[in-house]
Amino acid sequence: MSKPFVAIVGRPNVGKSTLLNGLAQRRVSIVEDIPGVTRDRIYCNVRWLDKEFTMIDTGGIEFRNKADQIVDGIREQAELAMEEADVILFVVDARAGITKDDMTIANMLRRTGKPVVVAVNKVDSENLEMEVYEFYSLGLGDPIGISAVNHLGFGDLLDKITEGFPDNTAEEGEDIIRTAIIGRPNVGKSTLVNSLLGYQRSLVADEMGTTRDAVDSIWHYKGKDFILVDTAGMRRKGKINEPLEKYSVIRSIKAIDNCDVAVLILDAKAGVTEQDKKIAGYVHEAGKGLIFMVNKWDLIEKDNHTMNEFNKQIRDELVFAQYTPILYGSALTKQRINRLGEMIFFVAEQQSMRISTSVLNDLLEDAKMINPPPAHAGRVAKIYYMTQVGIKPPTFVLFTNDATLIHFSYVRFIENRLRESFGFEGTPIRIIVRSKK
Ligand code: GDP
Ligand code: GDP
Repeated sequence: MSKPFVAIVGRPNVGKSTLLNGLAQRRVSIVEDIPGVTRDRIYCNVRWLDKEFTMIDTGGIEFRNKADQIVDGIREQAELAMEEADVILFVVDARAGITKDDMTIANMLRRTGKPVVVAVNKVDSENLEMEVYEFYSLGLGDPIGISAVNHLGFGDLLDKITEGFPDNTAEEGEDIIRTAIIGRPNVGKSTLVNSLLGYQRSLVADEMGTTRDAVDSIWHYKGKDFILVDTAGMRRKGKINEPLEKYSVIRSIKAIDNCDVAVLILDAKAGVTEQDKKIAGYVHEAGKGLIFMVNKWDLIEKDNHTMNEFNKQIRDELVFAQYTPILYGSALTKQRINRLGEMIFFVAEQQSMRISTSVLNDLLEDAKMINPPPAHAGRVAKIYYMTQVGIKPPTFVLFTNDATLIHFSYVRFIENRLRESFGFEGTPIRIIVRSKK
């Protein structure tokens, strides 16, 4: 079962983005915020008790080429939500009451047949609670009063949203590497998938007795099997006006959530774009493996600097992903695409690598000698030991006398030492700093 997907819809200014950010904050942040990625956050991963889901604010995605957005915008987000979401979260405003636009949206949502949860926002105090009842007349079940600003009512809301979701316990032990081919429209995803699968019969994962969505394909390569996540739309040729960027963002996010390794296709002609940065940032935050494939390399006039220049552009634009391998090739002429299988396999190994505590502590002792932990306001930071607590992504805990004394730059230094010693190519690393008396 893939991770459930919740779409937020609603008129502008009802508090959708405040709610999303409020829910995102509940997470203990163990990764740094990436500038440019988190600033205009449109999605978050929410964990509630044993359940986990991805939430996206469809209103936060820009609708380009639309001067007369508002009403059209609402319609588009609602349509998008209907298509992709497992649950739709409809946010309305207690202070404004029911508006005509709310009714229009409610009518559309009622026709979807998908579960809809109505959140009545801006119920900041008890005397507004009566306002919630008015929203029964939307005909979408029990409305839940919340205050996104004050984080009130989140528990009831999350209970309701996750009612039908499966518990996130015990991952199935699956050896097949789940790979997502992602990127902007027209970068060559379909061409790549078709080239990889070649003439081999397209098997869907369902037929293999797994419980995955039927949109996945199995790719056999050199005796290994890979699942290419969510390829149904890609293999379909002459697809219906896919170029709408917003669709591609949502599809990408879903595919990333359900993969081990993501291959982000960049267009050699276009270079690194803003949307590429967002998608790469999401992969990084989600802790998944990442490979860049610079496609359409056949169209580039090359001299012996071209590749280095491109490398530099990628490293400069995507600063947070210095660890990512880069492949140059052509999905069309198939130049170098046979390398992709090995790269994916390699990155998957790196993600699952475990380092013993004794080896980590040797590394830590060395690191402390080169660069002693900092002191703040007369207090000296002490790092006692480090241990690996997880894989996919590799996750480490650093036990210290006082976590607040360990600045992010020191954590970055430790991360760099880990990478120098062990590689961890193509995978984000998480380091959690803990205080221990
Ligand atoms: P969006 O357009 O639906 O994403 O709405 P925003 O999240 O940008 O919020 C619109 C306005 O409503 C902002 O000024 C928020 O501060 C305000 N707002 C959001 N949530 C609440 C709430 O729970 N109570 C109150 N009083 N104001 C809120
Ligand atoms: P998608 O939207 O990302 O799935 O992109 P498509 O696979 O549909 O490709 C978009 C266009 O780029 C098509 O006309 C492809 O033939 C072309 N294309 C894809 N890969 C390459 C490549 O490596 N080289 C060249 N020259 N064209 C390519």
